Amino acid sequence: MKRQSSQTSNSAPAAPRFLSALGLNELIEVFKNLGEPSFRATQLLDLYYRKSLVSYDQATCLGKALREWLAAGLPLYQLEPVEMREGGEASKWLWRSANSLIESVQIRAPGRVTSCLSSQVGCAVRCAFCATGQGGFERQLETNEMVEQYLQMRARSGLHSSHVVFMGMGEPLYNYEAVMRAVRQLNRPTPEGVGLAARRITISTVGIVPGIKRLAGENLQLELAISLHAPDEATREKLIPAAKRQPLREILQAAAEYSKLTHRLVTYEYVLLAGVNDAPEQARELGRLLRGRPCKVNLIPFNPVAGTDFKPSAPPAQRRFKQILDEAHVPTTIRVSKGRKVDAACGQLRASGNANIGSTERSEVLPSILKK
Ligand code: SF4
Repeated sequence: MKRQSSQTSNSAPAAPRFLSALGLNELIEVFKNLGEPSFRATQLLDLYYRKSLVSYDQATCLGKALREWLAAGLPLYQLEPVEMREGGEASKWLWRSANSLIESVQIRAPGRVTSCLSSQVGCAVRCAFCATGQGGFERQLETNEMVEQYLQMRARSGLHSSHVVFMGMGEPLYNYEAVMRAVRQLNRPTPEGVGLAARRITISTVGIVPGIKRLAGENLQLELAISLHAPDEATREKLIPAAKRQPLREILQAAAEYSKLTHRLVTYEYVLLAGVNDAPEQARELGRLLRGRPCKVNLIPFNPVAGTDFKPSAPPAQRRFKQILDEAHVPTTIRVSKGRKVDAACGQLRASGNANIGSTERSEVLPSILKK
């Protein structure tokens, strides 16, 4: 034990690493080099993934010297908290990592807490109504940067998130491998993962057909949400420029294949924009497209932000749209906005936070909006 302590206090890691980036075998190797038994590594990761930690001091199963070494040589997290906004039933978090700003949101509802995670910094899809899209693509997030958003929100809020949605900044299917590694880490039981059921994890996409097909073959029952936002190609392409390469017919085919293989309903997201996509004829067209498919529709009231030309549909137009879909026997809900008070639409906090923290990124407040 004496030898172990002295090794512990004298050793230092060769390169900066974070606990979030190590698997169990790698951590066992680190502990072995410190003269610590492997079960200590298992104990530490079990605690990390089951409860989250804000400090190694909470890992009282480890000796003091080891905890001190770990705090100095293997930080718990890569993401540094920059700002947190609390409002109503949502908290929005802004992190800094490798000189980028990353957003996450925690949404509370009766019986469930949902972590909304970002998968990229910025986004190449450039949806016309989205703050993140207006700024363009910056970089892919690493797997540990995604898993950490979940772990850190849980650790810092004290609330256990029951659900995860990849619906923050970025198109998750354009960062496929890293997102899938994060999904598996969230899904895997402790001590090697968080232990969240696949059915509690949602991948939200604008409809990247090859990605949907690949996801269908993963043998995981993940929830799939597809942002349609329009029942016709022309309107859709105006709202989602990348839609040109993803025809509606192919998206619906890929979604049907996904449902067949996973036995999951697909959710179609549809943001209601006044005078753009909320006309009764568009609701009827959407009903014709989706009728009889294993799906549901989530109508999203637009979250307005100064500087955009888009306006939210009036509540009577929202209700009429839903009624037409109900009459077409397409199960439809209108999402209750929980994030308005905290700029919960993706990209909003990051855009406004740039000026606050003197980042090297964009310093203007972007004219933008909501998430898919
Ligand atoms: S809504 Fe999503 S896919 Fe569209 S630009 Fe924003 S982050 Fe990208």
